[in-house]
Amino acid sequence: MYTYESSKAAFERAQKSIPGGVNSPVRAFKNVGGIPLFLEKAEGAYLYDIDGNKYVDFVGSWGPMILGHAHRPVIEAIQKKAEKSTSFGAPTELETEIAELIKSMVPNVDLIRMVNSGTEACMSAIRLARGYTGKNKFIKFDGCYHGHADMFLVNAGSGVATLNIQTVPGVTAGVTNDTLIAPYNDLEAVKKLVAEHKDEIAAIIVEPVAGNMGCVLPKVGFLDGLRAICDENKMLLIFDEVMTGFRQSKGGAQARLNIDADLMTFGKVIGAGLPVGAFAGKKEIMSHIAPLGNVYQAGTLSGNPLAMIAGFTLLSELNLHPEYYTELAEKAAYLKKGIIDVFAKHDEPVQVNQLGSMMSLFFNAAPVTDFATSAASDQAKFSKFFHGLLKRGVYLPASQYECWFLSNALTIADLDFTIKAMDESLSELS
Ligand code: PLP
Repeated sequence: MYTYESSKAAFERAQKSIPGGVNSPVRAFKNVGGIPLFLEKAEGAYLYDIDGNKYVDFVGSWGPMILGHAHRPVIEAIQKKAEKSTSFGAPTELETEIAELIKSMVPNVDLIRMVNSGTEACMSAIRLARGYTGKNKFIKFDGCYHGHADMFLVNAGSGVATLNIQTVPGVTAGVTNDTLIAPYNDLEAVKKLVAEHKDEIAAIIVEPVAGNMGCVLPKVGFLDGLRAICDENKMLLIFDEVMTGFRQSKGGAQARLNIDADLMTFGKVIGAGLPVGAFAGKKEIMSHIAPLGNVYQAGTLSGNPLAMIAGFTLLSELNLHPEYYTELAEKAAYLKKGIIDVFAKHDEPVQVNQLGSMMSLFFNAAPVTDFATSAASDQAKFSKFFHGLLKRGVYLPASQYECWFLSNALTIADLDFTIKAMDESLSELS
């Protein structure tokens, strides 16, 4: 029987010193209710909380842990590197090595700049797109999330959607006037915006596989259509590959879906669990970044040696083992089938959206293809289901609007354990 007494006490204590007791809102379990678990350690596919409970993990620190937690080569590389100091604020050869490695793995990367988070990567990519094109507006999609920089906090997914925040106080209209919104998968809406704002739009930023309104896949032709619109209107196509990079394939969504972006942003897997982001693209565009050009962007800790060695070690392994991606996709497909079967057994309508090792389920009888259809899912049922799984040792993201990230450390036995827990949890729903 799972008890959470230590987590409960830790949460009460944390709330006295940290807003809401957490350093990122979705961790607070606000939407699903209950006490957020305070974690002690994690190994492979398992999490252990401070009450000693063990969980099969489908969060994977929101993406980085593609080969599981405490992956030995990564841990050992960090330990060795730390002996030589934790930061220099000066160039190291390792930064060039990881840049060269990424260039060899990902299409359309001539130059890459390291930053410290996905937010930084996306805001820098937008600044660069504006600086390069000389235009101010950009298009983002309803329910997509590109970090918490002011101009992205319009119709944002992830925690903003989870907390149902319509307008974020502190974000000025001056900043968001240049953010144009279209529904995901709706090319006609994009064309309309482009026609209405002729010669004013610098870029379209898109999650090529969306993961911040739950997992939502691009319809056939959607991303190609965006590419064509950008080409016809001298706009840049920015793929936010913070989730998809090094996860959908070693070359990210671009390689997997065979679409060229002008700029890409990275986070999560690229840092193997340390704080890293990056933005990258063709030389013609990237050479506008300072000190080559005047589009200013900087960071005291950017290219930090511990973060770089962690990322370099993980990416090197992924580069050498393309079979990991096949294994991950097979595991995700196995879980998807298990979910569909078990929901059918309980006569409970479900949508399971999955591509590679990104997936999520929706309590919804209709297909989920954008934010509106995601939001129409039964959130109360999801919350009950979430807690049913938690008390049986399965840790899902604590929101219908978050994607699940599978790790290759998961075994078929773990997936069978999860499907059985789902079966039992569904019995408690009605
Ligand atoms: N872009 C996408 C697609 C994301 O999913 C996220 C975070 O989840 C971000 C950007 C922001 O990254 P970070 O939280 O590292 O700032």
